[in-house]
Amino acid sequence: MPTKFTPAKPPLTGETLATLTARLAERGEPAFRAKQILDWLYKKRARSWDEMTNLSKPLRTWLADTFDLLGAELVLGKQSTDVTDKLLLELGDKSLIETVIIRVPQEGVGVEHSRKTICISTQVGCAMGCVFCASGLAGLKRDLSAGEIVAQLLHVCYREDARTPRARMELASFDNIVVMGMGEPLANYDALLRSLTILNADWGLGFGARRITISTSGLVPKILQLAEENLGFRLAISLHGATDEVREKIMPVNKAFPLAKLIPAVRAFSEKHGRMVTLEFILIDAINDSLDQARILRDIALDLHAHVNLIPYNTVEGLPWKRPSITRQEKFADVLRAARVSVTLRREKGHDIDAACGQLRLKTEKERELASVA
Ligand code: SAH
Ligand code: SF4
Repeated sequence: MPTKFTPAKPPLTGETLATLTARLAERGEPAFRAKQILDWLYKKRARSWDEMTNLSKPLRTWLADTFDLLGAELVLGKQSTDVTDKLLLELGDKSLIETVIIRVPQEGVGVEHSRKTICISTQVGCAMGCVFCASGLAGLKRDLSAGEIVAQLLHVCYREDARTPRARMELASFDNIVVMGMGEPLANYDALLRSLTILNADWGLGFGARRITISTSGLVPKILQLAEENLGFRLAISLHGATDEVREKIMPVNKAFPLAKLIPAVRAFSEKHGRMVTLEFILIDAINDSLDQARILRDIALDLHAHVNLIPYNTVEGLPWKRPSITRQEKFADVLRAARVSVTLRREKGHDIDAACGQLRLKTEKERELASVA
């Protein structure tokens, strides 16, 4: 059973303007106080209560006794390739999570014009058991709280601020935030929505909803619930199989929610929100890369008016799966291109956003071993 973690003090990053205002009202504080405190946290990037100099000393003491600032400490920040930065964070119960910054240089322009994406985690581990995925290998340890999800983005801000000492980097300089790290985001629905609300709000991190993508393995009831929320987040579906036969071999979730249920749910989301959903399709050698699969995927994409993101599988240590040859990848993509399906096929290893963040669990575990001997 996944453990629940209740920290001694909840992180301030989990509070909305409304909840913080209510909490402060109990102390007789005026309504504007909550905004002032959140400004310190998100806009002025205060790293301690004492920096919040326009608050009285007794209020700062109360805040320090009541809340943790973030609930996540940076253990290790490293640039592992030319394009990927990884932040290893330790939570209150010593669990480790990773947040990834990916910079994909654009053709013909310098690194400063890279397309920048942040990939965040929503759980420690994952219960969905997809056979190809490193994140689910050890099962689910626990859900992240909203505060722990938001804390990942504040740590990215701190890191970027340090990289550009003169001008404080705004999160807005990032192109996208993708919820594609460890965990199944829709299995932690309430914390996910609360964290994305804080991320999106002008009193929070002020990041545009249309540049936030939630990726799911296909929890149909939650997709339908998300479709009803008028929040504007984008949706990506980890399809990875164009028929039930192929999909259920690699994704156990397909038994509960086969394509006959998943596809109408995606259609409902897409019609409600009027914008393209992305179908992610990892290409795994001899598993799902036949031209038959390509043709069925093409028809699904045309029917849903969806974008298809083909991701050559990234090998995971200890797992037998391989990526197909480049020729085979191209042939698969050609079937979709020929029908004018909007499709991307990323080949450069280090540039593969989805792979880079889809594999956090193993790497995190290794980091933990490293951290314990350090
Ligand atoms: N649980 C959610 C989001 C996290 S996984 C989901 O499944 O959508 C993010 C993406 O990385 C998913 O599309 C997942 O299938 C993919 N992924 C997992 N392992 C991978 C690997 N080894 N190589 C390439 N992509 C992988
Ligand atoms: Fe979980 Fe997504 Fe990995 Fe499947 S692919 S095990 S849902 S993180």
